[in-house]
Amino acid sequence: METNITLYGGVNEVGGNKILISTRETSIMLDFGLSYQSRRKFFSDPFIIPRDVETLVKLGIVPNVPEMYSEKLEKPFDALFLSHAHRDHTGHIGLLRKDIPTYAGEASLNILKALNEASRKSIESDIHGKILKSFHTGDVIKIGNLEIAPIHVDHSTPGSYGFVIKTPEGSIAYTGDFRTHGPKFSMTEDFIRKMKEQQIEVLITEHTNMLDGVVSSEKEVEEKISEITHSCEGLVIGDFAIADIDRYNSFYNAAMRNGRQLVITPKRAAILSSLRNDRRINVRAENTFVLMKEKQRTYDWEEKIFKEWKTIEPEDVSKKQKEFLVLIPQVEMQQIFKISPIPGSVFIFSSSEPFNEELEIDYDRLINWLGAMGVPMYTVHVSGHIMPIHLKRVIREVRPKKVVPIHGENPELFKKYIEDLNVQVEIPKVGSRISLG
Ligand SMILES: [Zn+2]
Ligand SMILES: [Zn+2]
Repeated sequence: METNITLYGGVNEVGGNKILISTRETSIMLDFGLSYQSRRKFFSDPFIIPRDVETLVKLGIVPNVPEMYSEKLEKPFDALFLSHAHRDHTGHIGLLRKDIPTYAGEASLNILKALNEASRKSIESDIHGKILKSFHTGDVIKIGNLEIAPIHVDHSTPGSYGFVIKTPEGSIAYTGDFRTHGPKFSMTEDFIRKMKEQQIEVLITEHTNMLDGVVSSEKEVEEKISEITHSCEGLVIGDFAIADIDRYNSFYNAAMRNGRQLVITPKRAAILSSLRNDRRINVRAENTFVLMKEKQRTYDWEEKIFKEWKTIEPEDVSKKQKEFLVLIPQVEMQQIFKISPIPGSVFIFSSSEPFNEELEIDYDRLINWLGAMGVPMYTVHVSGHIMPIHLKRVIREVRPKKVVPIHGENPELFKKYIEDLNVQVEIPKVGSRISLG
């Protein structure tokens, strides 16, 4: 067969997606994510970090395809398409050769640029010098004999897309990460409608939540954060994935409803700043302060943030703890320690598990810090991923000839769960080819 799909990642694990679509004359890569599962066996930020691509290849963390990394060799594909700006989908794009263009939604590019500027330099994710091209829903991008249509979907970060790809042998759809229970569910419905419009030969879908089904909503999350904030007698501290704007708005609303000011770190402010001019994304920040840091060295991007935002000194938060809700990542927990939460303070962990696809938490140490401060923890969360019943509904409506479950650890369970739909389920293996037709 002429058209093939090769999965270099995202197989039997949550994230690390790397999907090659190739015809005889044209190839594209969908996502080039970091596999936390294999990377954390050998590396631990910020001390043991990869220094070269050869080591990552040898350890089996990235594909053993030298053409992907060296511009001296023939191009292995013509373009890279990113579904969204989560590290498990974009975290290894820095390793790819620079002469292959990268396409992504505008908000995703803004987030990637802001993260690139506000993070420690890394060979894995550095996008400096890359050819970046943005797309919107409604665009059809022609690359050789392929036509790629990106369509917005709802997920836990703005600028998330699914793709419908026309090939000479029929259409392939890729969900990226998506959900139908989120605040922007209508975007996902647009994607489902687009898939229904044409016969989909192969649907490559995430199936993250086969064992984590929950019925909840972002509105419910906001209510719960608000209830905790209302009853809290001290400082409210929160943490969640840095590019989740829905969650940010929930914390913001909960703080405002209870007469508290929101305090964030410069890095989170940099992400919010990068999205402020995007009218489709509602970033509320009128009553948000950026926490000044004690470090002597201030980077240029931080200077910019300190000028652009209202700032607050840690001592001022410390003096009036009942007036603030501070969003702070674990790496900055020492700042909270110095603020010295008064008895009655609480921490709201707003993520589903210790190892999230976009937020790496050293759970044991987090518990130790909270113990040292006498701060109890609440967990309040709603998933960015589609629930099992909803996913089955999508497959029933789209009626693809074949489904390939990726980005999840339970493909066999998934296969049995949708058996009655009479859709062929192909459980992928890393590196093996799935042909169309
Ligand atoms: Zn993901
Ligand atoms: Zn994601």
